[in-house]
Amino acid sequence: MKLHVITLGCQMSAADGTETAAALCRRGWQATAELEQADAILLTTCSVRRHAEQRALSLIGRLREWKAQDPSRFLAVAGCVAERLGERLTRRFPHVDLVVGSKKAASYADIVSEAMGNRLESLRAAQEKDAVARPQPEPVPADAAAAPSVGNPVQTLTIMRGCSCSCTYCIVPSVRGRESCRPADEIIHEARTRFQDGARELILLGQRVNAYRSADGMDFPDLLRALDALPGLRRLRFMSPHPALCDDRLAAAVRECRTACEWIHLPVQSGCDRILGMMRRGYTREQFLATAARLRATIPGVVISTDIIVGFPSETEADFAQTLTLLDELRPATVFCFKFSAREGTPAAMLTDDAPPSLKEQRLAAANAVVERLTRQALDSQVGSIVEVLAETPTFGRTRTGFKARWKSPVAAGDLVSMHVDAATRRTLLGDIDEPHNP
Ligand code: SF4
Repeated sequence: MKLHVITLGCQMSAADGTETAAALCRRGWQATAELEQADAILLTTCSVRRHAEQRALSLIGRLREWKAQDPSRFLAVAGCVAERLGERLTRRFPHVDLVVGSKKAASYADIVSEAMGNRLESLRAAQEKDAVARPQPEPVPADAAAAPSVGNPVQTLTIMRGCSCSCTYCIVPSVRGRESCRPADEIIHEARTRFQDGARELILLGQRVNAYRSADGMDFPDLLRALDALPGLRRLRFMSPHPALCDDRLAAAVRECRTACEWIHLPVQSGCDRILGMMRRGYTREQFLATAARLRATIPGVVISTDIIVGFPSETEADFAQTLTLLDELRPATVFCFKFSAREGTPAAMLTDDAPPSLKEQRLAAANAVVERLTRQALDSQVGSIVEVLAETPTFGRTRTGFKARWKSPVAAGDLVSMHVDAATRRTLLGDIDEPHNP
């Protein structure tokens, strides 16, 4: 069976799609990039923002035609939109064969396999009954099936699912459930498999990744150290850590692990204590800045990035101005700025969404102007230095500190190279490379 995977939205949704596809390929499915050749589509969806959910619904509607061309095709919709809307999705889109929500993300491969198996059985039964000779696709032998992630030097690895926090704007706890952590030995085994598949850098994923704790008591810094000891791993990143859980043990593990990159995404969301309290983020502005300062003091050269939300209910000009001053104090290299969008069922959706769209746009533009300046400064500060880059393609890669980099002379994807930074564009470092220095 040929499987086409489409992932929409956040990194967890992308990781769920990639990991499920890899598991199905190990069972004999074949990945295809061509929609028209696919016998089945797995669509993983995200509902963190209203816009992401609307995109998913519109795509599901457009897939009606793909399904109509051959009704034996199979369309599975998974993820947070599936969790949130459930049966409502199949009522609105009868061409969807399977709706499986994000609380079952760890079992997507089993569920899709079983549903597809049932589908084939009923097709066979119908064919026998009608004596219609419709040839079934040849099964692909397991050893010939290639997982879509094979050969990609940078791969995500989900270490936990769900979130036990209660940030008032966030839909994740209700659609993904409480935190559940994968056993450490399973993660380590999977990491080894990924190296054999060609991974050189792993990005550990979790909604609150540094809350990881295995049933036998291994916490996140322990896990970093255990993975760091694996031969084959060149780089380790993780996202997103919760600022309130970034303690000295975590900072020391990042400093001491050979592979742990000097880049930490630390989502702040607002620079105003009153708004942070309404968001139930669990820290104040001062505590957040102290955490960032501690990370910088412990991890030489660490680069920080962050997220902010503008236009949260009741946010005043003065509150928003505090977010801008926080950015200047924090000096992040990149910031993902979002407009508040009320998600049905969250506590923040009960508040009056009092900032009109034009005001949210205005604040977003003001925040982006500050971010543009900070990113420019961060990139310019690299010019003239020599940085280690992991090649994701022959002429593109990333530094340990998370900056994008481009060079002219091609190398093999997966190589570690030293690049002399000659210049920087708005988003990318440009330079020339020495010989690869793979260990
Ligand atoms: S920590 Fe807060 S924002 Fe992050 S997933 Fe959990 S509830 Fe959502």
